Amino acid sequence: KLVTFEGPDGAGKTSALNAIVTDLQAQLGDRLVVTREPGGNQISEAIRQIILDRKNTMMDDRTEALLYAAARRQHIVETILPALKQDKLVLCDRYIDSSIAYQGAGRGIGEQAVYDMNQFATEGLTPDLTLYFDVDAEVGLQRIQTHRQDEINRLDVEALSFHHKVQAAYLKLLAQYPDRIKRLDASQPLEQVVTQALQVLTTTLPQ
Ligand code: C5P
Ligand code: MG
Repeated sequence: KLVTFEGPDGAGKTSALNAIVTDLQAQLGDRLVVTREPGGNQISEAIRQIILDRKNTMMDDRTEALLYAAARRQHIVETILPALKQDKLVLCDRYIDSSIAYQGAGRGIGEQAVYDMNQFATEGLTPDLTLYFDVDAEVGLQRIQTHRQDEINRLDVEALSFHHKVQAAYLKLLAQYPDRIKRLDASQPLEQVVTQALQVLTTTLPQ
């Protein structure tokens, strides 16, 4: 099964994922695969470096969307599909919904266009479950300013309005795919978010 973790900046998605992994590892051992885009393979990492240079190179928004999709493709082929074939549980930090929210809505390329392009890239590989860590743009940015000084330089160029667009797009996806995407209230303390996430995981994905 493939489970993806999604949410706007500062939702606490990565911290929650780490805690969830600690819990699941005890039961699943090597049947659990934890990964994040770009996935650690050589090609995707090289693509990631190009994307991270964006601020210096005036990268076009569609180029950025295509690069994310290309990195995703390679990550699927090298990491996700082999694990799924062995019937493992794959937890992936960000996937297509991030592209729809950040490139499609945030950068304004269009959600449908980014969805279509990613259908090509993934050959329709859709998560069995998506945990959506929902937090208001103001709260998320506030958290980053408090806890992640290193990310501020990258993020402050992106206005609050950008993050509002990202969150609105996620909420639209949630309404569109209620069976696949489950919302977690990520404004709660981490411990409660993790408890809620584990509950959703165990009820949605019976072993
Ligand atoms: O998952 P994490 O919060 O570490 O993501 C890092 C950043 O990469 C995000 O905050 C976002 O600005 C950017 N990103 C993006 N488009 C994606 C995925 C991530 O702009 N498709
Ligand atoms: Mg993160």
